[in-house]
Parts: sequence; C-alpha cells; structure tokens
Amino acid sequence: MTTAYHPGRPSADPPAPAAAPRPTAVALPTPTVRVRTAQAPSSPGADPDDPTRPADASSAARSSEDVWDGPLVDSFGRVHRDLRISLTDKCNLRCTYCMPAEGLPWLAKENVLTTDEIERVARVLARVGIVEVRLTGGEPLLRPDIVDVVRRLHAIEGPEGPLDISMTTNAIRLDRVMEDLEAAGLSRLNISLDTVDPERFTKLTRRERFSAVQAGIAAARASGLRPLKINAVAMRGVNDDEFCDLLRFAIDHEAELRFIEQMPLDAGHVWSRHTMVDGAEILAKLSAEFDLEPVGDRGSSPAEVFRVRGTDATVGVIASVTAPFCGACDRVRLTADGQLRNCLFAREESDLLSLLRSGGSDEDVARMIRASIGAKRPGHGIDDPGFLQPDRPMSAIGG
Ligand code: SAM
Ligand code: SF4
Repeated sequence: MTTAYHPGRPSADPPAPAAAPRPTAVALPTPTVRVRTAQAPSSPGADPDDPTRPADASSAARSSEDVWDGPLVDSFGRVHRDLRISLTDKCNLRCTYCMPAEGLPWLAKENVLTTDEIERVARVLARVGIVEVRLTGGEPLLRPDIVDVVRRLHAIEGPEGPLDISMTTNAIRLDRVMEDLEAAGLSRLNISLDTVDPERFTKLTRRERFSAVQAGIAAARASGLRPLKINAVAMRGVNDDEFCDLLRFAIDHEAELRFIEQMPLDAGHVWSRHTMVDGAEILAKLSAEFDLEPVGDRGSSPAEVFRVRGTDATVGVIASVTAPFCGACDRVRLTADGQLRNCLFAREESDLLSLLRSGGSDEDVARMIRASIGAKRPGHGIDDPGFLQPDRPMSAIGG
C-alpha cells in the first residue's frame, strides 16, 4: 500500500491546471498485510484474547481461482458491503471546517478516474460483495456526467440485485438534475446544511449560495426519494445556538436531520478535541425544546436515532469521535484519483488507478481490494496519543 495523495498545483476555482502525470510503470499488487495496534476493537468476529492479531493472510494471498469467493471480510470479521466513491475533489463551496478559502491543490485531471474506470472498479467490488454505493466528493454534482455515472452504477448487479445508489451533496445544481438522477436510479439523498441562517451560511461556506441550496432541497422534497436526510456538522461558536432551528427546518421539509460530530479532517488542521461539540451536548440542546425518544437498536447504522415526539420525524447523532462505530464499519472508499482507502482516517492507500492503467486484470483489482480490507485497522484511533490526521482533507477523501 502507498500514501499516494498527489494533488496538482494549487489553483483558485476549477478548472485546475494539469500537474505531472502519475507514473504508469507500476508493479502489480504484492499486498503487504499489516494491522497495527490501535484501539481495542468491539468488532464482531474479533478475537477477544488478541484484538490486534495479524490479518488473515489468506485474504491477501488468494489465488486467482478463489479471489472471487466469499465476502469482503477483514481480519476482525467485519463484512464490507458499502462503497463510497468520491467523484471529484472540487467544490463550489468552501465550508470552513472542510476547505481553505483559496481552495486546495486540485487533483490533476488526468489522474481522476474516468467513468469507465469507476464502473469497472464498482463491478469488481460488486462481485466481492458490495451492495450499496454512496457518491460523494468534493461536490459530486460538479461531475458533468453525474446522471450517466448513476445510471451505469445502478445497472451493475450486486449480490442483492442492482447496486443501491445514494448521494451526499450540498444540493447546489440539484434542482437542475433531480428528475434525471431519479430516473437514472438514484435511491436516496443526504443534503448537507449546517445553518438555516442565510448570512451565517455565506460566512460558513464563503459563498452566497443559500438560495441555490434551498432550491435543491425543494427539488429533493418534490422527488420520490425517501428518506431525505439533512446532515449538519455541529460546530462550537458557529451553529451550536441553532440546533433546534435546524431540527424545526428539517421537520418542516419532511427531512430526517443527522448531526455529525466534527472530525479532524479539515485542511487547515485546526480541529480540537477540547472545543468540539459532542453528541451528548447536541442531545442536551435539542432536549430543551423537543421530547426525544430513542429508536430501537441502531444495528450497523452510525447514527443514534431518536423519534421527535408529537411529529413523524426522527433526529440522529453521528458521534464519530466520542462514540465511534468502527466495530460495525462496513465501508470502503474510492477516491477520485483511484486510491482505495479502508478507513476515513487511513494513512495508507491502495493504488488502483495505477493498477488499472498498467493492464491489471479484474483478478488483480479484486486481490488489491481484498488486501486493503485485510489490512484494515480495528478503529480510527482519534484518541490515541500517536494519532495523525490523514494527509488528505475530507473533500479529497469523500465523506
Ligand atoms: N460536498 C458534499 C457535501 O458537502 O455534502 C459531499 C462531500 S462532503 C466532504 C461530505 C460530508 O462530510 C458533508 O456532510 C460534510 O458536512 C461532512 N464533513 C466535511 N468535513 C467534515 C469534518 N471535518 N467533520 C465532519 N464532517 C465533515
Ligand atoms: Fe464542499 Fe462538501 Fe467540503 Fe462543504 S463539506 S466544502 S460542500 S466538499
């Protein structure tokens, strides 16, 4: 595995100038499986006597005959079914917790996966057990062929039928493509909205696009896609006085609100564990105005969900930092430049782009995927003294 984040030169808004092409002469995968000591896992199937036992070497050393056999399982027994695909690292907003005002050094165009390449990787992943795909970014709606991407991915047959395709978006441009996305097979939408105050929105995103986002939310509401979710990152001194307003907004728009604890994935590396708003505080603030009733077993869902009494709505808290759900994680991520990441916080990546472009077969791709999952650590380790934020910011990983 490599640490292969090679963005192009810094630039202002897209389009970005091309950077030096990625080298094409690469070795086919000779996977090294490493599991480092991290947090004690609570993962299903983990060995309670030796939580950091080495990965099952068989996942890495499969012959071409059996590379298609069995689920995509890691060394702690976690079966992977959920693929996140980042379609671009570019964005039309500059949320302060995600991107610097001047943007980032964008990926060079020639290093971004083509739609054919994305489809091929997704097809291989579906053969080894992936059933759902979430499209993200950057801003996925900036991909000019977004409707085609959805159509082609939804046409892939997974273990449980056509792949289930969802999207996380800031909703700008959504009103223009909503009907086509639905017709292409998109099944669900998560829209990110951290404030319902237009002026605050402009400050927080550094762009005057509040009304464009509202148009996108209206289009999503008018569509048949349900549940419609709204994601809000909780931030001290930014929106911690409007959690109840956000919930009222979501209820009024027939959406399910999910608060997300802010994670150390900002490009500016200014996140602090001491100042972040945690899930307990979010719930305390909501409870001042709403009567919340816990909803059953959360299963593998990252959100702890509550019914809002007196309404049909639910509200959830994704406490990725203070109550990590790593033990039930079933996700694998593909970056826009074709790097496979087994965790948001992974410090190593598997270079599928180079493999694809140097003639690797589908078996080689499947083998690299299995090796990556085989090396997945038990947890993100944010609380470890030696925790290091990944080189890639969230916008270049895909949230
Ligand atoms: N641009 C799209 C959007 O904003 O929905 C998709 C990409 S964005 C990176 C995906 C999600 O990650 C958004 O809901 C965003 O709020 C969230 N996010 C970004 N940076 C984050 C951070 N440091 N901590 C927690 N969530 C973050
Ligand atoms: Fe763009 Fe989404 Fe990051 Fe905001 S959170 S800057 S909308 S990628």
